[in-house]
Amino acid sequence: MKAQQARLGPRIERAINAVLAHGQFILGPEVKQLEDRLAAHCGARHVIGCSSGTDALLLALMALGAKAGDAVFVPSFSFAATAEAVALAGATPVFVDVEAASFNLDPAALAEALAEIKAKGQLRPAGVIAVDLFGQPANYPAIDRLAEAQGLWVIADAAQSYGAALGQKRVGTFGRISATSFFPAKPLGCYGDGGAVFTDDEKLAAIVRSASVHGKGTDKYDNVRIGLNARLDTLQAAILLEKLSIFDDEIMKRQAVAARYAAALAERVGVPRLGADATSVWAQYTILVPERDALAAALHAQGIPTAIYYPKPLHRQTAYGHFPVAGGSLPVSDKLSARVLSLPMHPYLEPAVQDRIIGAVLAALD
Ligand SMILES: *Cc1c(COP(=O)(O)O)cnc(C)c1O
Repeated sequence: MKAQQARLGPRIERAINAVLAHGQFILGPEVKQLEDRLAAHCGARHVIGCSSGTDALLLALMALGAKAGDAVFVPSFSFAATAEAVALAGATPVFVDVEAASFNLDPAALAEALAEIKAKGQLRPAGVIAVDLFGQPANYPAIDRLAEAQGLWVIADAAQSYGAALGQKRVGTFGRISATSFFPAKPLGCYGDGGAVFTDDEKLAAIVRSASVHGKGTDKYDNVRIGLNARLDTLQAAILLEKLSIFDDEIMKRQAVAARYAAALAERVGVPRLGADATSVWAQYTILVPERDALAAALHAQGIPTAIYYPKPLHRQTAYGHFPVAGGSLPVSDKLSARVLSLPMHPYLEPAVQDRIIGAVLAALD
């Protein structure tokens, strides 16, 4: 963050001061500018700024009409917000396993989960939220095929992946609706909470926009649906406009860091793998090691910070334990939770510093 601030120099201060000067803190002109810039950047027809990634997911679910009795299939190996939004919308998250290689929703497991829920007949299969974990898009071609055949919608939880792509298609254009987050630690982060919703569907876009302002009709004192207060702050939009201007370059720098890690570590630990036509924005660089806690302690002793995303899959969390688990158990999610360790990753990680991290990892494994 310090290096990024130094690079952007006085631009962010100028952007903030411009907002202080015009005083339109709610839905000021920078919000629309950012929405237009994001639409051009990723190729989505409609972009709606909002208050967080969690609210982006909730707005998407509201627009798609998720309701009580609906089954929404979600990966268990994710951040809580994925399932939380489903429960807040009144629907039931059904936890599905992920692929070990990509950390993302396993299309084969999804097909089985769908058959199981249909056979049980208690819930109405309504949709899927695929998560682009650690910055790599999920396998949307396979997930879409399945969803389409069964009449389900797909939401892309792109909180960690804005900027990534599958072939020529960029994140923001997957699923019926995509949701991203601008939480400071995400690849494109603001200086507080923020998010955005993306869709090519004009009707859904209109509902999302309305729902983000108390279900407004012609204005916010004309309420045509139950909504939220979920707008993106003008100040955050102004900051994001500056950050977006250097974001593609930052993505390339992240990719260079990831390539260096992979080259140095692939023979000794499990390194993340990308699908054939996938790119990642490397929100996290997550390795797999059987003695994860020992490695984390050894790195910590040398002043190298690490993190565990996620130590407990969602189907084992107190708040989510009562929701259905496809097939009764999710062995890949369990195994990943016990073995994942995320190494320092950001665009301004100097090669010398990275070499010290790599050296410390290799030494600890000896
Ligand atoms: C961060 C995150 C969210 C929620 O975003 P917030 O802006 O923190 O509300 C949702 N899903 C995933 C996968 C995330 O990583």
